[in-house]
Amino acid sequence: MSRSTVNAPPVLSDDVVERAFVDADALRDAWSSAAALEPAALRLEQDASDAPSALVRLVSLLGERGLLGLVVPAAYGGTYPEVRSVPLCLARERLGYSSPLVELAFAMQALGSYPITARGSDSLKERYLPRVAAGEAVAAFALTEEDAGSDLSRMRTSATLTPDGYVLRGKKIFISNAGIAHFYVVFAVTTPEAAGAKLRLSAFVIDAEAPGLTTRPQHVLGGHPIGEVVLEDVRVPLAARIGPEGAGMSIALETLHKLRPTVGAAALGMGQRALSEALGHVRTREQFGAPLSELQAVQMSLADVACELDAARLLVYRAAAVADVVAQLRAQNGHEAPADRARVAKTGSMAKLMATEAAFRVIDRAVQLHGGRGVETTGMPARLYDDIRALRIYEGASDVQRLLIARALLERGL
Ligand SMILES: Cc1cc2nc3c(=O)[nH]c(=O)nc-3n(C[C@H](O)[C@H](O)[C@H](O)COP(=O)(O)OP(=O)(O)OC[C@H]3O[C@@H](n4cnc5c(N)ncnc54)[C@H](O)[C@@H]3O)c2cc1C
Repeated sequence: MSRSTVNAPPVLSDDVVERAFVDADALRDAWSSAAALEPAALRLEQDASDAPSALVRLVSLLGERGLLGLVVPAAYGGTYPEVRSVPLCLARERLGYSSPLVELAFAMQALGSYPITARGSDSLKERYLPRVAAGEAVAAFALTEEDAGSDLSRMRTSATLTPDGYVLRGKKIFISNAGIAHFYVVFAVTTPEAAGAKLRLSAFVIDAEAPGLTTRPQHVLGGHPIGEVVLEDVRVPLAARIGPEGAGMSIALETLHKLRPTVGAAALGMGQRALSEALGHVRTREQFGAPLSELQAVQMSLADVACELDAARLLVYRAAAVADVVAQLRAQNGHEAPADRARVAKTGSMAKLMATEAAFRVIDRAVQLHGGRGVETTGMPARLYDDIRALRIYEGASDVQRLLIARALLERGL
C-alpha cells in the first residue's frame, strides 16, 4: 500500500486562467493544507495493515490538521460560513495527487455529511457535523441497492412510520466506508408507489451501532473500503429524518450535484500524478540509444494528455465556481432560480464526465509509457489505473452524466 512521495505537482496558482476561478484565500487554505499533510498521511497509510484501518486513522489525521473544516459550515467547526465547492475541489485534487486513499478519506466525510449540512435539523447538525470536522466520526452515504443504481426509482429499502419513529428494512450495496463508518445517511422509501403516484424517498441518519444494522465487506479495484449495509427492522426516532418526509430524492440530488465537480477534481489529481510519473520515466528510460523522451511519438502523446487534463481542469473549476456563486445568490435571495440550479447540475456533470474520462486516458498512457513496469502491481501507474476506474462509475456513471447534459441542452436550452 505504500506510495512514495514524488516532486510536488505544478502549483495551481501559477496558472493565470485558473486564478480566474480560484481566489487566493481558497488556494492558500485548501491546496497548501492538503500538500502539508502529505508526509504524515503517507506514513500512516504505509504503517497500517489494511485499507479500512488506514482510512479511520487518515480521517482522524485530516480532522486534526483542520482539512475537514472544508466539509462542514463554520457554525459547526468548519472553515467557511457554508461548504464551498472551489476549496473542496482544490483539496481533492491535491490529495488525489498524493494518495487516492487519503483522498477517499476526505471525500467520504463530505459525501456522508452533506445531506445533514444541506437539510438536517439544528440538532442533527449539532450532533454530527462537529465530529465530522474533527475527524472523530467517519461518515457514509447509503443510496445504492441491488436494483437501484442509476435508476433510483427502483429503490426498495423501506422506512415505515410507527408511533415511536420509523422502522427501516432493506439492503444497500457498494457503500463506501461500510463497516468503519460511525453513522450512515440512508435513503429509503417512505411512500410506496401507488396508483400513478410517484415513489417518495426520505433520508435518515443511522448510527453504526443501531440494533439491526449489519455490514458485509465487498471487494473492488483499488484500496477502497466498501460493503453492504443490511437493515433488519432498524428503529430510528422521528428526529433522525433529514428534512421533511418525501424530500429524500431532492436531498440525494442536491448532494450529488454539490459533489460531482469535486469527483472530477480528485480525478485531476490522480491524472496529474500519472503525468508526473510518466515524465520522470521517459526522461530516464533509454531505448534505441536515447531517453524515450526524445522520441517524437512519445512527445506527441505527452502533449495530448497534458492538454486533455488541463481542459478538464478548467471545466472542474468553472463548475465549482458556478456552484459557489449560485449558493451565494441563494443565501442572499432566500431562493434559487430553476435555471441556475440546472446550470449547476449541467456544469457539474460536464466536469465529472470530462475529468474522470481524461484522467483515465492519462493514466492509461502513463502505464503504456512505463512498458512492463507500468503493470507491476506495486508501482504507482498500476495503482492509479486501479484507483481511477471507479470514478467513472460512482456518483453517476459517465453515460448517465451524458444523459443529464443532453437533457439540459434539449429540455432547458442551456
Ligand atoms: C468504488 C465504488 C464506490 C461506491 N460508493 C458508493 C457509496 O458510498 N454510496 C452509494 O450509495 N453508492 C456507492 N457506489 C455505487 C455507485 O454509485 C453505483 O455503482 C452507480 O450509481 C451505478 O449503479 P450500478 O452499479 O447499479 O450500475 P447500473 O445502474 O446497472 O449501470 C450500469 C451501466 O449501464 C449504463 N447506464 C445505466 N443507466 C444508463 C442510462 N440512463 N443511459 C445510458 N447508460 C446507462 C452505464 O454505463 C452504467 O455504468 C459506489 C460504487 C463504486 C464502484
